[in-house]
Amino acid sequence: MEPLLKTYYKCYLSEVRQLKPSTVNHYCDALNNITRHLQEMKMITGSIYDVSDLHRLKELQEVLFEDAAFIAQNKKGNQMYSAGLNHYVRFAEGTNLIAFRHDISKLDMPMPVRTEEPRHYESKHWARSDILREQTLAVADYHCEMDGRHQTFVAERTHKPYMESHHTIPIHLQSRFSYSLDVYANLICLCPVCHRKIHYGLRDERREMLYEIYEKRRERLVHSGLVMGKEEFADLILKD
Ligand SMILES: [Zn+2]
Ligand SMILES: [Zn+2]
Repeated sequence: MEPLLKTYYKCYLSEVRQLKPSTVNHYCDALNNITRHLQEMKMITGSIYDVSDLHRLKELQEVLFEDAAFIAQNKKGNQMYSAGLNHYVRFAEGTNLIAFRHDISKLDMPMPVRTEEPRHYESKHWARSDILREQTLAVADYHCEMDGRHQTFVAERTHKPYMESHHTIPIHLQSRFSYSLDVYANLICLCPVCHRKIHYGLRDERREMLYEIYEKRRERLVHSGLVMGKEEFADLILKD
């Protein structure tokens, strides 16, 4: 069966962008060609539409645009392939969809959606304690440690403001340390916005947050055997 994103993409091109069927085919052919090319490069096994991670998709785009064989082929095809891929990436990012947000329901036409077997991810995880997590929140008296004034909502489970605990040095970096990262000194209580921000915010803003945490926690980290300079601390976490 056709990958879901292909169905959506074709539907988007014809229903939302109102392109002629021949143009839709043109775009799809370009992506089929790109799929074959990436498979030959052993970059993907399925089709480009099966790439469900946007970062991965952009990575593949970069790899292709630097590949000599692709560049040559693209030149022969009057940039048709790169244009097709750029178009699809913008669709995937949703940037092209913004202008059509009032028409987005046109993509909701009934279509058989393939359901897949749940995927099993097997990987080793370093143990982390739920008790420590819970304690971290209690110790901070359910206040965000970036700014105690940050408001959330009351959690049903605890009847306390909803907060999240965060490992400042990510626990999957444990193998680089001889002392545990699952310790009080490395755990902080954050409001949900700060927590998302420290994981996904702008690099410079994350760095500022890390400097602030480092200043507050330096001594405690040292006591826990986690000895590092400020820049080293920030770089380690940011390049992760
Ligand atoms: Zn976290
Ligand atoms: Zn906060």
